Amino acid sequence: MTRTRQEPVIARPGAASDASAVVVRGLRVRYGDFEAVRGIDLDIRRGEVFALLGTNGAGKTTTLDVLAGFGAPSTGEVSVLGMDPRTRPPQLRARMGVQQQDGGFVEELTVLETLQLWQQLVERPDRPERLLERFELGHRRDVPVGKLSGGEQRRLDLALAVWGSPELVILDEPTTGLDPQARRRTWDAIQELQEAGRTVLLTTHYLEEAEALADRVAIMHRGRIAVTGTLAEIVAAQPASFSATLPPDAPALPELTGWVERSGDRLTVQSGDLQRDLTAFLTWADAHGVRLDGLRAAPASLADVYHSIRAEEEQ
Ligand code: ATP
Repeated sequence: MTRTRQEPVIARPGAASDASAVVVRGLRVRYGDFEAVRGIDLDIRRGEVFALLGTNGAGKTTTLDVLAGFGAPSTGEVSVLGMDPRTRPPQLRARMGVQQQDGGFVEELTVLETLQLWQQLVERPDRPERLLERFELGHRRDVPVGKLSGGEQRRLDLALAVWGSPELVILDEPTTGLDPQARRRTWDAIQELQEAGRTVLLTTHYLEEAEALADRVAIMHRGRIAVTGTLAEIVAAQPASFSATLPPDAPALPELTGWVERSGDRLTVQSGDLQRDLTAFLTWADAHGVRLDGLRAAPASLADVYHSIRAEEEQ
């Protein structure tokens, strides 16, 4: 894991290996006086699903907009599939699908007409019928897009982004506002892209979504990347915890390296060395004949990491 407080520039995007789908170095984006993205580095490898997580206003959409060519960096270097997205080169558009938070559909066109129009515009071959079925929009094919529900519009937007299974798919909160079944179908679509060797960059507020889908994640906070790595790497850097309910007459606890918290009879220990502290605790319980109820031990979760970043930055 890189616990980046942004590392120095180590390579220009042009020098990135072919294994990289997206390379970002020192990206800053300003809106007037306000700096929404404050010097981030990213390396997204070809064929991986990468989730960008973060608090509201952290700068995720701003970053995605730059990568998709909709927004310009104030400073920094950006390379997407080896190209500069700022100029929106047609070769890049042909190889990349993008789902933004707002679809920007022509509301009068029906779902089918929208897909047929897309078929004319996008170079990648695909069929409207496949997407109608894939995203369960067949029964809505003749409905004007403006009359679709929010979730249906989201699905249509996703259908356009994955049209022709592009090499790189950028998805901004693809499952926000979806019901559980539609969310599941979206996850399936992302996993299909991954199995086909495509690269997917997505933002989400659902930590379980990142856990289910992402090979690697980055957590943004206030315009910076606070942490990046695989889930295992990120979580391993956080203390694990164990907890148990003690009898009221339990003797004094053994010495533990972790942070001990008591709430009534319930004891919780956050430990950077779970094996050592848990062994000491269980040995103590055994030696004193202490009965432990509801004993639980668990590694940190992504939610723990997320909350600790928020707490740390807000101090
Ligand atoms: P969310 O999770 O809420 O969608 P985000 O991480 O995607 O947030 P951004 O949409 O990138 O965050 O916004 C980052 C910051 O930049 C926010 O404080 C936002 O208000 C501000 N911002 C975004 N677009 C503009 C703009 N066009 N003009 C001025 N400020 C903007």
